[in-house]
Amino acid sequence: MISQRAIQTMLAAEREGYVAANPRSAALAQEAARHWHRGVPFHWMLDWGTPFPLFAARAQGAALWDADGHRYDDFCLGDTGSMFGHSPAPVARAIAAQASLGLTYMLPTADAVVVADELAKRFLLPFWQVTSSASEANRAVIRWCRGITGRDKVLVFNGCYHGAVDDVFVDLRGGVPELRRSLVGQVYDMREHTVVIEFNDLPALEAALAKGDVACVLMEPAMTNVGMVLPDPGYLEALRQLTTHHGALLVFDETHTISTGYGGHTATHGPLPDLFVLGKPVAGGVPCAVYGFSAEVAERMERCRAEGETGHSGIGTTLSANALALAAMRACLSEVMTPAAYAHMLPLAEDLAAKLRAVIAANGLAWHVTHIGARGEFLCTDKPPRNGSEARKAMQGPLEHALHLFLINRGVLIAPFHNMTLVSPATTPAQVDRLAEVLDQCLKTLIGHS
Ligand code: PMP
Repeated sequence: MISQRAIQTMLAAEREGYVAANPRSAALAQEAARHWHRGVPFHWMLDWGTPFPLFAARAQGAALWDADGHRYDDFCLGDTGSMFGHSPAPVARAIAAQASLGLTYMLPTADAVVVADELAKRFLLPFWQVTSSASEANRAVIRWCRGITGRDKVLVFNGCYHGAVDDVFVDLRGGVPELRRSLVGQVYDMREHTVVIEFNDLPALEAALAKGDVACVLMEPAMTNVGMVLPDPGYLEALRQLTTHHGALLVFDETHTISTGYGGHTATHGPLPDLFVLGKPVAGGVPCAVYGFSAEVAERMERCRAEGETGHSGIGTTLSANALALAAMRACLSEVMTPAAYAHMLPLAEDLAAKLRAVIAANGLAWHVTHIGARGEFLCTDKPPRNGSEARKAMQGPLEHALHLFLINRGVLIAPFHNMTLVSPATTPAQVDRLAEVLDQCLKTLIGHS
């Protein structure tokens, strides 16, 4: 229905439009290229697929302004770091107050007491630790799980992403595990200590766990990094039983599924994992992450530490749990990530999904729209994928690229990596309507050229 020729025509026109509309970003890009490798301070900033990077000037709530003065309806929200809005007032105030009191001491502050109580109440696990990123939290959790179980294997799901974490970069291609093809500088074979299976496949899970060498199952309760893949009804409960039965620890990485509702997927739908990871938005965008665990895991950690030598554990970095991060996290948890915030986000995200479905159907396309609370995604395929292989197959690089550029040129940002949208407490119904309208224009243009 949408031809390759139409996609290429749109890409050419949109690239031209982008260049004409963004002279200030173009000039900044040229200057930045003098000393930033590939012209940006961090290479992911090239993933938007624009002819040159869009330079941001400022952002507030669910709006972002670029260096040329254009205003965007921001559904990317720093891909989740700003999921509860850019610079929420309580977080901005907390950062300003802490700024002149010292930023990092390697000592706890009174904020830490409030934060731990908040975390335990909301996420239903009694003990917590802080890291500087979700990647780092996942690395810590993997190390702890191996340490306390004495088992070497980590089990992950095909198509997963848990950050810059070596152990998880194993994919299934045609049923065969292989190292993720895009890795740089990989010198050891993770397949020795990582097991990868498809999501929603209980027999494969049972067979893998029965070998008795899996330390932990590390997973998102619903996959969000290969498009979205929802758990089949009853899947997570069965998985919880199997992990317990076979002595493997269950880790939920809720860095993205925190969108589900207050307390994340765990508190909203269950089951309760042994360990829980949350990064990105937890301190409103200040680098920070947390991991929580059960009393039983805490006790096993103690025994594991007592048996080992003192000194470096391989866990933690110097700036972890610094005073600035704790102040920001306190404000974010107690004043921003509130039940009232979710009460705004969830129905509006539902509305967005319904409007996108209507636009897609009106244009005669059989695409699939899904959402996990405030986090939405459309896939250019008719059937909801049940696992990573099916989701990967549904991705349509050039089409998605053309669509993203079309949206950017009309003042709408969605996540650059796939077709993901976030609804924040600051997002308005008018912004949702505009995204649906611009997608409609885009699809009509593509179909018109086909
Ligand atoms: N866990 C999940 C589920 C993620 O999606 C990501 C990043 N997209 C991470 C962990 C890593 O987060 P960070 O890059 O902030 O370390």
